[in-house]
Order: sequence, then C-alpha cells, then structure tokens
Amino acid sequence: MPNSCQSSSTDTDVDAVVIGAGFSGLYMLHRLRNTMGLRARVFETGGGVGGTWYWNRYPGARSDSDSYIYGFTFDEQLWQQWEWSERYPEQHEIRAYLEHVAERYDLDHDITFDTTVRGAAFDEDSDTWTVTTDTGETVTARYLITGVGALSASNTPKFPGLDAFRGATYHTGQWPHEKVDFTGQRVGVIGTGASAVQAVPLIAREAEDLTVLQRTANYVIPANNGPVPDEVRQARKADYAGIRERIQNSTFGFELTTLEKGAAESTQEEVDAVLQPRWDEGGFGIWLGSYVDMFFVDDANAKVRHFLHDKIREKIDDPQTAERLIPKGYPFGCKRNPLDSGYYETFNLPHVHLVDVKSNPIAEITPAGVKLVDGTEYEFDAIVYATGFDAMTGPLNRIDIRGRGGRLLRDKWADGPRTYLGLMSAGYPNLFTITGPQSPSVLSNMPVSIEQHVDYIAGIIDHLRDRGATTIEPTAEAEDAWVAQNQQLAEATLFPTADTWYMGANIPGKPRVFLPNLSFVGPYRAKCDRIAENDYEGFTISGAREGATA
Ligand code: NAP
Repeated sequence: MPNSCQSSSTDTDVDAVVIGAGFSGLYMLHRLRNTMGLRARVFETGGGVGGTWYWNRYPGARSDSDSYIYGFTFDEQLWQQWEWSERYPEQHEIRAYLEHVAERYDLDHDITFDTTVRGAAFDEDSDTWTVTTDTGETVTARYLITGVGALSASNTPKFPGLDAFRGATYHTGQWPHEKVDFTGQRVGVIGTGASAVQAVPLIAREAEDLTVLQRTANYVIPANNGPVPDEVRQARKADYAGIRERIQNSTFGFELTTLEKGAAESTQEEVDAVLQPRWDEGGFGIWLGSYVDMFFVDDANAKVRHFLHDKIREKIDDPQTAERLIPKGYPFGCKRNPLDSGYYETFNLPHVHLVDVKSNPIAEITPAGVKLVDGTEYEFDAIVYATGFDAMTGPLNRIDIRGRGGRLLRDKWADGPRTYLGLMSAGYPNLFTITGPQSPSVLSNMPVSIEQHVDYIAGIIDHLRDRGATTIEPTAEAEDAWVAQNQQLAEATLFPTADTWYMGANIPGKPRVFLPNLSFVGPYRAKCDRIAENDYEGFTISGAREGATA
C-alpha cells in the first residue's frame, strides 16, 4: 500500500497513537497511514493482532454474527476474496482474517506488540498527547485514538480465597494459547454468559465431571451453525454493495428486519407462529429481528418469554433442571442473548450438573474447589471463570488518561461515562474512542460500527488539517445533552430493569448507568453525518489558521 507520509505535526513523534490492534486499531492504522499519509503507531498488549479474538481462545469461541457480515467492507476485493468456512466464524479463523488484513495492508511494522499503554497526558501548551507504556516508551502525538474494545478488561470476582485453589484456573477472556485438555478432570465453570454457553458443551466432551455454577439463567437461542450453501454464498458475493448499504443503514448492523405488528397486539399463538421459523433459522432473529415492542412493554415481552420457556422445557429431560435453566426476573432481550451449539442438551448428560449460586452464592474458593454460603463444597481439578468483563468503561478507565488540567478520565467518569456521540469527551481534546461507551457499539454488529467510527474520525482529522486547526473536543452542552439523551433512550425501554453488564451491574460498585447507546446503527450514522455537515456542530475546533496545516 502506498504511504505518501506527508506528515504535518513534525513537533510530535507521530501524528497519531492508536491503542489496540483488533478490528478497530487495524482499520484506523490503515486509514491514517495508507489513505491519509499520516505517521501512526499502534500499541497492543497482546503478542499479535486480533484484539478480543487474540485473547478469547476458550473452547467453542466464535462470533455470534454471521460471517459474511463479520468483517471489513471498506475494500470490496478483501470482502470478495476472503472465504469463511461456516455460518459463524470461529476464533482462530477471525484471528487468521485479521492477520491477513495486517499483512495485506502492511500494518505490522507500525504496531508494537507486547506493550500496554499505561498513561496518556494532554499538554495544553502544545496541544499534543504524551503516551507512556509499560515498557518505558514515551511517544508524543497530536491525536490519541483508542481501539481498546468494549469487552477486553476481564473480570474475576474477588471471591475470598481466590488464590487458595490447588488446581488449574482459567478465565475465558484470558485463555492459554496452547490447548487445555480437561480429559478425566472434575471441572467447575462459574458463569453462564455467552462465553460459558459456547465453552460448556465442549468442556463437557472432555471432562469426567462438569459442574456449572449459575447465578442468572440466560435465554439461549440455537446458533444453527454449519457450512453456508454454495448458492447462498454466491448470491451474497454478487450483492456486496447491497449488503454493505443495508447493514450500514440498519438498526443493529445485521440484515434483520423487525415486525410492524407488536407482540402486545398478537395472541400467544400468533407470537409462537412468528417466532418458530426464527428459532429454526437460528441466530439473532428472535432477539433483533422480531418484535420491537418487547423492548418496551412487559406484556409483549412476556409472550416472547413464554415461547422461549417452552423451548427450554422441551430440550431438558429433568424438569427441575429445566426450571433452573428458565430465566426469571428480567425481560428477554435486555441481557445479551447468547447463541448456542448444544448448550441446553449438555445438561441432559449424566456427568454434567447445574448448581444455583443465586439462592446459595459462592462464599469462597478453597484449596479443593468452591464453597457455597450454606457450606456445600464442590471439589474440582480445574475452575473456569466465565465471569465476563468490566465492560465498555473498564478498558479505558484502566489507563491513566489525563486531559485538560491533568484531570483523569476515570475521575470524570466516576458516576458513569460522559461523552458526545460515544466518540469524544469534553476536556480531552483529540482523544477519540472507537465504539466507546454511549455509542451503538455492543448493541450492533461490531465491525459495522467500528468502520463507521474509524471513517468518521478520519473525516474529522482531515477537516482539522484542512482548516489548519490543532484541536477538536465536544462542548460541555453537547456532551450534557448526549449523556441525558442516552439515559432517556434507555429509560424508555426495559433494558434498565435487568442486572446486566450493559448497566454496569456485574461489577460491584460500578455506577448503574446504561453504557451503550440506543440510537441504532443507521440513524446514529445519519446523525453523525449531519453533525459533520453542520461544521461539526457540538464540537469546538481551535487553533485554526487560514491556509495552514495542523
Ligand atoms: P457475561 O455475559 O458477563 O457472563 C458472566 C457470567 O458470570 C454471568 O453468568 C454472571 O452472572 C457470572 N458471574 C459474574 N460474577 C459472578 C459471581 N460473583 N458469582 C457467580 N456468578 C458470577 O460474560 P461473557 O459470557 O464473557 O460475555 C460477555 C459478553 O462478551 C457477551 O455478552 C457478548 O457481548 C460478548 N461475547 C460474545 C460472544 C460471541 O459473539 N459469540 C462470545 C462470548 C462473549 P450474572 O448474569 O448473574 O451477572
């Protein structure tokens, strides 16, 4: 790829520092360096590219997005040439794809691996960022762009005795690179989120005895994975432009359409008839491609729940286990809906046990295993923590990011994130957060939102350079309005009624605010574009010198 390298801010080491070499960081680097001719450096904690897919190597890890839309669309040739082997791409295949992207666009040599950014401070005299790493490097840049992922700061609950366990421990989000063999072992899995739902069936194949410790049952829908028929693949290849246009302007970044008629105004029989083909098809159709009113009205949601509860009962042999696997106390769809490949069926196996740790919570980790509050102790050879992440704000708050006046971003966000468009925060000029909190991000098919944010950031930087400006940041008013609107949108729905990582509820002490944004992919994109057309309304651009470069 050509690199014209017509750099501008020669008083900094590079024009931009990017944190993270997953989907976000890779595409951002490509845009900055290969299409804009800027000097950029990427720092990545992992030893290779991949981001979330570098770390999440647990058995069964794969995307829940259909593979034909789980990738970049900015380069038609890349999209046409890459072949996915199944309906949903598996972890190693996504990592291979991202390695291919890095090679294709010659990205590796500007990425420093095995290096974690510890801090970044904005200098108000020079309008530059100084970035420091755990390897002792210091780099200055005009722009600081985070591609740290929404679900990358893994969370292990602080159980008493955590280090006492004599056996092996694993976290799904920090899985070893070499294969873990559970053959002949007694394994305990803590957690029943999307990671556990994928890992449990495969761990059960090896383990002599498997105990799943469940705090909250999840609504799990069949993935229906498998090879994609040739004619479907070819039809998609012929429709690149249409697919791109549809996902970019969709509600959630998928080719799914919601129904006009609500569940509230339908009979249970009608709802069942509508949901059955979506259940058979597998994927997110029931969640993101059916009834809109189930997100707003509990009566509507109850009809969808009724359908799903029956499905769980059909799948589980033991009625008591079935009742434990039936989610209670929160609406369907307001907790991330995992897709499974044999999750429920695993609980019909004689060596697999389900333990309720909501009514009888985990009291401590012991040398032998896990002890519950009532004194029951489970002995394990290995414990798998499938306990999730400090989502969205966690990865950013773990970095000492200091803006104007030396103020730490995590202090500013002590009561929850404060952003404009989920992209920038007032007092932190030229800091961009790709798919950051308060953007559609995790409520969308991520690559679609990542491409939109990266292109938007590139547009902003081009605009600054054209105007000879040095900084951009949101006004306090624009940020206040976005934060308020973010909450209002969420409060109009049932999302806040569920204890989820969307609400920060999985991390003790984390403020309970809705972390993503409910504007939806297409309308959010249109809003961002209108803001740009209106001379970046809501942002302050400074340091402009007519005819100069930034
Ligand atoms: P998660 O959804 O947050 O699940 C964590 C699990 O650990 C929950 O069941 C949680 O229970 C349990 N847990 C946490 N603290 C506990 C405690 N102190 N005691 C007992 N149980 C505890 O995490 P995840 O499964 O890693 O998934 C996180 C997100 O990553 C997903 O929602 C999804 O967005 C993404 N992901 C995607 C894929 C995919 O695309 N295929 C795969 C994996 C992950 P509670 O529910 O009660 O909090």
